[in-house]
Amino acid sequence: MRWLPRTVRWQLILWLMLLETLSVGLFAVILVKVEGQEIRRRALERLAHQATSVALQAEEAYRQQRPELVFPSLRMMGEAPSVARAMITDKTGDVLFVSSGDAAHSPLEPAEKAQIAQIPEHLPLVFSFGDRRWEGVKAIYDGANVRGYAWVETDRAWDTEQLDTVLRGSISFGLIWIGASGLLVLLMSRSISRPLSILQSGTRALMEGPGISANFPLPVTVDNEFGDLIQAFNRMVAALEEQRSGLNDTLSLLDSMLANAPIGLVFFDRQCRIVRVNEVFAEMTGVALSRHLGRTLPEVLPERIAKRLEGAVRHVIESELPVHDLELEGRPGESGGRWTWLVTAYPVRPSPNKLRWVGAIVMDVSERKRSEDALRRTEKLAATGRLAASIAHEINNPLEAITNLLYLLRGFCHLDDSALNYVTIAEKEVQRMSEITQQTLRFYRQSTLPARATMEELLDSVLDMYSARLSTLGIALERQYKPDLDLFCFAGEVRQVIANLVSNAIDATPGGGRLKVRARRSRDWVHPQYEGVRITIGDTGSGMTEEVRNRLFEAFFTTKGATGTGLGLWVSHEIILKHHGIIHLRSRAASEGGASGTVFQIFFPDNEELTGRVAVEDRATAKA
Ligand code: ADP
Ligand code: MG
Repeated sequence: MRWLPRTVRWQLILWLMLLETLSVGLFAVILVKVEGQEIRRRALERLAHQATSVALQAEEAYRQQRPELVFPSLRMMGEAPSVARAMITDKTGDVLFVSSGDAAHSPLEPAEKAQIAQIPEHLPLVFSFGDRRWEGVKAIYDGANVRGYAWVETDRAWDTEQLDTVLRGSISFGLIWIGASGLLVLLMSRSISRPLSILQSGTRALMEGPGISANFPLPVTVDNEFGDLIQAFNRMVAALEEQRSGLNDTLSLLDSMLANAPIGLVFFDRQCRIVRVNEVFAEMTGVALSRHLGRTLPEVLPERIAKRLEGAVRHVIESELPVHDLELEGRPGESGGRWTWLVTAYPVRPSPNKLRWVGAIVMDVSERKRSEDALRRTEKLAATGRLAASIAHEINNPLEAITNLLYLLRGFCHLDDSALNYVTIAEKEVQRMSEITQQTLRFYRQSTLPARATMEELLDSVLDMYSARLSTLGIALERQYKPDLDLFCFAGEVRQVIANLVSNAIDATPGGGRLKVRARRSRDWVHPQYEGVRITIGDTGSGMTEEVRNRLFEAFFTTKGATGTGLGLWVSHEIILKHHGIIHLRSRAASEGGASGTVFQIFFPDNEELTGRVAVEDRATAKA
């Protein structure tokens, strides 16, 4: 109903007006009907009475033999407001007198004449003819004989005028009534429409969001049910506001947790699409935080990992049970280096029996994993070391026996020159074997107490061990150390450090070059109060790129594939730190331009107190 006004107020007024107009109309119709009948009844009565009165006067005039005396009263009758015309006719219906105009020119109409036969004795007759014309007629008697008839015709205009007056009166009363009640409703409806519009604007302000404090509480302008409604509305808004601020607090708590937790957090919807992640998870995937939303895992992670993680999420969706400690491993090259994630996925239910999201906690345990592995491998290594040492020890005795036997063999007189040559070779090889076992024993037979060691002896023992490899590869060795240089240290461990550095230098110089080993008294270049020994080992080998330089001291970092362990420098670093020493390197790879090569410098403080303390701590940890 598009024509209907949009406000309650005007709808009320419109319906009221319609209803009242209808009822006033109905009232007018009934009034006209009833009043019309009444007016007609009275008109007929009057007509009969008027006809009788004219007839009586005519009888009187006839009795006095002066019929013309009837004329004044006939005219008077004609002047009456309800009468159109009054006439006297003779017995046949010829007009004798008429109230106005000429009698000769106003004869009876045939329909009127036809009524003469119907006129009852001594009584008036009222009849209608033509279009709404009424006439009353009565016989005029002269004794018992009829002399003629008295006719009175009514003037209908008068009747309708009366009806008009009644109608006009009631219509104007109706209009006043409609107007007054409209005004009343207009005034009363303010108490409905005002609070309604206040409520409406309040609701709109509420929906448009913040700024609640500016618009609320809504003014209570009326004291009725609508006032109560506004008050209830105000109370509801206050409660909502309280809830909303509580919710905001909780949300900001959650947000800060999500942003600052040192673990990756990610949420999925039931289609395994990501709905929320935190910064840490974004760092883990290497994809910008905003680019996770709405995506699936294969879009942000390498396919193999994504499949496994997604499988866990699906399992949670189907079983509605959490999945704990799923271990995911990234292979080197798949995305960066090797890493391990520990994932726990759990259902998130906004209501007790409705799973809406799946949350996942992703922890990067690569570091832990690596050190666990390292620990395991070191243990294995230590065990192998102990085994090697015990084998070396066991081999030593038979070796001594063989040496002695070879010595005896040489003394036999009937050995020819070539046999003697074989004995010499065998002696040399046995000598080499015994050297190897000696070295092995020296490495693993941990000296439990530090002692003063001669640097020359220490460095020579290592370099001699590598002399064969050095000459095979064509590496020129340059030694720069004085015989009187000594150091209070764990000789076995210092020897291990030097062996590691020399072996690396040899590995880096497969096509020949130079190896320089230098040792001299020096001062700690960070804490100059410590005096000690600085050992420099430099090679002209391949050098290292920046990436290698940065990761050099990590356990298991190697560029040598299966032949490397990646433990040499890590162990060396540990040993140096334990001695409060320093290791420093300069290296340049061929790709960086210029001559390639590497120089390691190590400083060991020569301080009996400091190194003694290390020994005590060492024993303490060993016991623990
Ligand atoms: P490994 O020798 O088993 O590889 P290390 O810890 O001894 O383990 O060395 C780690 C890595 O450092 C080596 O793989 C190598 O790439 C690099 N490196 C160490 N010393 C040198 C050197 N003198 N010249 C070039 N690279 C070196
Ligand atoms: Mg090495």
